[in-house]
Amino acid sequence: MTRIADALAHARALRVDRLDAQLLLEHVLQRPRSWLLAHDEVSLTESQASNVAALLQRRAQGEPLAYLTGEKEFHGLMLQVTPDVLIPRPDTETLVDWALALLQGGPLEPRVLDLGTGSGAIALALKHRHPSATVTAIDTSDAALSVAEANAQRLGLDIRFVLGSWWSGAKNQQFDLVVSNPPYIALGDKHLPALRHEPELALTSGVDGLDALRAIVSDAPAHLASSGWLLLEHGHDQSQHVRALLLAAGFANVQTREDLAGIGRCTGGQWR
Ligand code: GLN
Repeated sequence: MTRIADALAHARALRVDRLDAQLLLEHVLQRPRSWLLAHDEVSLTESQASNVAALLQRRAQGEPLAYLTGEKEFHGLMLQVTPDVLIPRPDTETLVDWALALLQGGPLEPRVLDLGTGSGAIALALKHRHPSATVTAIDTSDAALSVAEANAQRLGLDIRFVLGSWWSGAKNQQFDLVVSNPPYIALGDKHLPALRHEPELALTSGVDGLDALRAIVSDAPAHLASSGWLLLEHGHDQSQHVRALLLAAGFANVQTREDLAGIGRCTGGQWR
């Protein structure tokens, strides 16, 4: 017989983080963690026990928790995620908070675009917190777009989804605010093995990791209303490059914001 306490001991033997093990148990038993903590003598049914064992095994082999539970919280919203989308990161909340601050002082019904929306994280957070915005979200992956669309539907947030590669999905359209967390890791980067479960399309972008950022910046002026902003997330060592790209393209007010770890993670500028 497997009790909750046994499952946790098994997790420890597999070197699975205790919190991760509790979150997997929470997922399988559909009980809050507070309940698990107070009931570790309760026995699991056979199917629960085998489910938990399989999930612990996968976690021990490095599969991200969010893919095992199928969900991840982002900016106060619970999003469903599959291996077709990047798992939303808390770092990206920096981009969302900056965008929300700009929307506060901007037009009443701003037109907002999220390029490379993945799970829809950024677009959904912006629509949720700034309902008067008209939000468009583009992605080049059909599978990712299905995940994003399902998230929007479940959360009751009205977003226009378009399949397309960067600006090809926004022909002849202009926006007051464009945001993107594009792939920005260099091919061959030493961090990639740890990210092997996530879609490569969402992670890497050319030999220096800047291909997508260059593509976005170069065509941004054609799609920005006057005084519109472009905000871009990027790698920990790319802020100087991205500022240079924006300045060369003619952007004003070019600046970088730091993420929770104090790393310059997000750079933006205003189209004059
Ligand atoms: N926009 C999504 C996010 O921030 C996906 C980003 C990506 O796939 N590179 O989570």
